[in-house]
Order: sequence, then C-alpha cells, then structure tokens
Amino acid sequence: MSTQTALNTFVKETGGWVASQLEACTRCGLCAEACHFYQATGVPEYAPVWKVDLLRRTYQQRFTLSGKFKLALGIDKPVSDQDLLDWSKYVYEACTVCNKCSMVCPMGIDLGTLIHDVRAGMAAADLVPADLKAAVELQLKEGSPLGVTDDVFDDRLEWVGDDWEVDMPLDKKGAETLVVFSSIEIMKFPQNLAAIAEILNAAGENWTLSSKAREVVNFGYYEGSRENTVIFLRRILDHAVELGVKRVVVTECGHAYDALRWTAYNITDVPKDLEITHITHLLAEYVSSGRIKLKEGSLNGGTITFHDACKIQRKGGHIQEPRQVLKVLAPDSFKEMTPNKEEAICCGGGGGVIAIKEADPNRYAAFELKIEQLENVGAKTVVMACSNCRLQFTDCVQHFDLDVKVAGLAQLVADALIE
Ligand code: SF4
Ligand code: SF4
Repeated sequence: MSTQTALNTFVKETGGWVASQLEACTRCGLCAEACHFYQATGVPEYAPVWKVDLLRRTYQQRFTLSGKFKLALGIDKPVSDQDLLDWSKYVYEACTVCNKCSMVCPMGIDLGTLIHDVRAGMAAADLVPADLKAAVELQLKEGSPLGVTDDVFDDRLEWVGDDWEVDMPLDKKGAETLVVFSSIEIMKFPQNLAAIAEILNAAGENWTLSSKAREVVNFGYYEGSRENTVIFLRRILDHAVELGVKRVVVTECGHAYDALRWTAYNITDVPKDLEITHITHLLAEYVSSGRIKLKEGSLNGGTITFHDACKIQRKGGHIQEPRQVLKVLAPDSFKEMTPNKEEAICCGGGGGVIAIKEADPNRYAAFELKIEQLENVGAKTVVMACSNCRLQFTDCVQHFDLDVKVAGLAQLVADALIE
C-alpha cells in the first residue's frame, strides 16, 4: 500500500472540482438519510458525506491555509494507512454507488462521483477488496470475472441455442445491432440469453453477438481503476467497430450500462455515430411500434411490482419503458413500490458489493428495506431489468425465506410473445 499514491490519485482525479463540491457542504445530513446502508445499519461512517471525507482532508491539507495550519497545530492528522484501510471498507463494502445521495443533496454535491474517486485512489494504492481484485484479474486474464472463456462462451451459446431452439447469430457481418450480455446472465441466468434472442428474432432485428466482445460487465469500473475500465470498454467498442454495427445494446446489467453508455465518453474514444442503448428501451419500442405482440394481461393475478435499478432507471432514465411493458402484461396487477422510479431504494448488491464476501452483512441489512417495500405493496412477483439486482433479489429471497417470485423483464416479455 502507498498512502501517497492514494492521496496523489485523489488530487489528480478530482482537481479543483472536488474543492467546489466539498466546500459547498453544509453538513445538513440529508444524504445520510438517503443511503440504504446508513439507514439499515445506523453506522455513522456509512453516511455518504463521511465516505468522501478523505478527499476533503487531502484537498484541505495540501491546498488550503487553514488545512495546513490545522495540520501544523495537530488539530487535524495526516491521512494514515489505517484511514485508507477504513475507507476502503466504507466505499467498497457499504456503497453501491447508487447515486441516491447525490439526488437529495440540497447543494447539488455529486457524492456518487466523489465516492468513485475515492475508489480510484484505493485502486491506485492496491486497496481493492480481495474478492473484487480477483474478479478484475480474471477479467483481464480470461476475459471474464465469472469464467466465461472463449470455450465456455461457445458451449453456452450452443447449449442455449439447442435447448431453447433459438437462433443466436455470432460475429455476423452486416448486422446492425451488437448485443452484449453480462457474465451474470451468461453463467447464472442463461434463460435470459434465450429470451432476448427470441425477442430480437421476433422483432426482425438484424443483430449479432460477438465472440470478442463476449460480455459487457466492467469490473475495472467497480474497482475504480480508469486504466482497467478503459481496457474492458475497448473490448466492446473496438469489436463493435470491427463488425460495423450501428448500435450496441446492453442487456440486463446496470453498472455495465453506466460504464458504456455514460462513462466511456469521458475516458475513451467512442465512435460518434455508434448508438449505445439498453434492452429495456428496445422492449418498449418493439411493443409500442407493434414489432412484437404480447399476450395482454398474461400476468394479471397476484400483485406484480417493478424494482428500479440505480444505473438503468435513476441514472439511465429508462423509467417509463419497463412500466409501458408491464402495463400491457399486467394491467390489473401492476403496482408501484414506494419510493420508486428515480427515488427508488437500491437493492444493496450493486457496485460490486455482491462480489465481496465481507460485505454480505451490509448487503443483507440493506435488503431489509426492500423487504419492507415489497410487503407494503403486497408483491407476489418483483420484476427488474438488471441481472445484478436479480442475483441480489434471488439470493435474498432465499436468505430471508420470502414468498416472492423474482423475474427479469426480458424473460417475462419472451414468455408472453405471440408467435
Ligand atoms: S446532503 Fe449535501 S450538503 Fe448535506 S451533508 Fe450531505 S453532502 Fe453535505
Ligand atoms: S451512492 Fe448510494 S450507497 Fe453510496 S453512499 Fe450514496 S446513497 Fe449510499
């Protein structure tokens, strides 16, 4: 570990912007009330403003007269190795980078981005939790954090194609749309591959998968390493260019969508005529334009609700599309949880948290807020468009022995297709 490396990265990543952000903080505490980890555990260090305090201290101690005085007089202490170890836990094990805190801050402080900057310092100082680091290394070495090597990918496609009897084009030259799955879908929810292929084929989409851009998940983005984030982004972007597609569609993965749809433009070259969108957008477009027909009301019955993923709905803005689809499938049974849409509560498993064993107690504690929401609305089924959320829900339904069905949106659409 190098404390100086971490501090230099804080300064480099944030520059003067962090100063204006943190100087504006009035310590009102509203962000703490918005954070599911703070709400669920009451741990003071889990307050969002505390999670970014290392940035404030570093900036003040290096650049402000008052910060230097406080240091010289012993009122403040230099950032220590122990501080870095503590903050590594706060920003990786008790933060999903869900950005809800940023939404409620009356001063407009972009806490989510600042927390990502703290992660960048941790990554530079080699303080990424071991499980997350191992996943990054697997993705660098084998192309996938969950072991989706070339051979596994080929086997998976062959198996899904045969078992679900669905055509899954691979490396098709002349295709307009490149579809990129996440490793969670490929390894844990293979039915999603079949479902999305069925929908695209039914809509007459000219699409393909890529053997080189096999999966879209980006563990470099989770850990906060710009260098690794770019390596994983380039795997998708370069092969999209190689195939000559006009559009990349990210399937049910929120963090990957954030990395490719928004962050990529700030850290690497994205071809300017390449459209990047989410599968939820396509589903709603196909339904509203009549390109696919669904059995209306096929999910009427027990109450069905929708969990908004932080990166697809809150950040990505795909708020109405899943509701448009669910109102066709379950016009009488669809009910909203409260709060919802951009104000929704995170599932507790995003931002890499579900990959870190030590974070399990936090992850389960945060999910208890979702349980309360599900119970309040009387949900029998909860639907989502992010497979990372789906993994967290599936695991937590088992952990808490809940009587709730967890479903992916694309899967429900595929099940309701009229041939
Ligand atoms: S909500 Fe904003 S102003 Fe209030 S404590 Fe949090 S960061 Fe500071
Ligand atoms: S980004 Fe989300 S999880 Fe992280 S501190 Fe803010 S509200 Fe909490």
